[in-house]
Amino acid sequence: MVRVLEEYAKNNNVPIMQKDGIEFMCHYIKSHNIKSILEIGTAIGYSAINMALISKDIKVTTIERNDKMYKKKKKNIHKFNLDNQIQIIYDDALNTNINDKYDLIFIDAAKSQYIKFFEKYKHNLNTNGVIITDNLSFHGMVEDESKTHNRNTKQMIRKIRKYIDFLKNNNEYITEFYEVGDGISITKKS
Ligand code: SAH
Ligand code: MG
Repeated sequence: MVRVLEEYAKNNNVPIMQKDGIEFMCHYIKSHNIKSILEIGTAIGYSAINMALISKDIKVTTIERNDKMYKKKKKNIHKFNLDNQIQIIYDDALNTNINDKYDLIFIDAAKSQYIKFFEKYKHNLNTNGVIITDNLSFHGMVEDESKTHNRNTKQMIRKIRKYIDFLKNNNEYITEFYEVGDGISITKKS
């Protein structure tokens, strides 16, 4: 059934996680016994649904600011019978206040705001929790900027690079980078 979501995303240019990326993340969730997840940026609910489908005792809280996406997502979650496992917060993640702690925080919203998301939500991490970030390669453009001539895209790519440097130089956290999907990192407290 998730195939329907993949098809929809493709036809409507919704930037959902790449297949090997979501598989990698789901494998990590399974093998590390992750039970509580906070997702920043959820679009049509593809990654949230995939994560919730791993096990009945996984709970996902997910934040989305786009009205159209929010409605679409709500419908999808209902279709998959996951209303009990997935809670959607319709808000800008930079304004949301969340007090709960999570085993996993998944950052996948506006790429130019990654440092802000990290700084804001690191306080919501359980001891031994991890932060996973998607799109650190941005279709290979982060490694090779000449792949785009668009000024806004170039700006965003530079922001992603800044985030990568921020992770690499952060003494409080240790990050591993994976060339899977569109580039994924896993960050833990050091
Ligand atoms: N995680 C999803 C894809 C998310 S695409 C998946 O793989 O299936 C990124 C989404 O983040 C978009 O829908 C966009 O509206 C949302 N977004 C961007 N900035 C945001 C913010 N500051 N707060 C909440 N949502 C945001
Ligand atoms: Mg992504």
